[in-house]
Amino acid sequence: MLSAQTTDVNVNRVTQTLFQKYRRPQDYLAVPPEELERDIYATGFFRQKAKALRGTMHVLLEEFDGVVPRTVDELVRLPGVARKTANVVAAELGNPQGIVVDTHVRRLSQRLGLTKQEDPVKIERDLMKLVRREEWGRFPHLLIWHGRRICIARRPLCEECVLSDLCPASRV
Ligand code: SF4
Repeated sequence: MLSAQTTDVNVNRVTQTLFQKYRRPQDYLAVPPEELERDIYATGFFRQKAKALRGTMHVLLEEFDGVVPRTVDELVRLPGVARKTANVVAAELGNPQGIVVDTHVRRLSQRLGLTKQEDPVKIERDLMKLVRREEWGRFPHLLIWHGRRICIARRPLCEECVLSDLCPASRV
């Protein structure tokens, strides 16, 4: 929820202190909204994100006994949680129900010819048909790390890529 329009490094820096101060859903609602905004300021879009966080904590307390739900259908009912975040949370809880499609997964799936779609929901549908269910949690991590280290957006390192003989977009 904090990661929109910022880097993972930045989010991890902010959450280091955030998670010490706010340990339960009630804690996010116990402070004035401006205080929460200040505490997440460095992630950008802090007003919108603080509003989503407070909304989510309300719903968690009112509908889920203060416990993060485990299904994607329930997770997307939380304010500020769309399908990608819901898929990430479900997978990290050991119960993947779909495949996370972020910018790397989208680019690599297209380059590798696994999908022709542009829309993340349609890309996810294509990947779910191709990838074995027990790999749904791990698969996006493999693509994300490959996308960060080798299949870089502007300058893919095809000559170093283990998939170059299979990849339709290979430049070697
Ligand atoms: S061969 Fe090139 S374009 Fe294809 S996955 Fe590897 S780095 Fe990406």
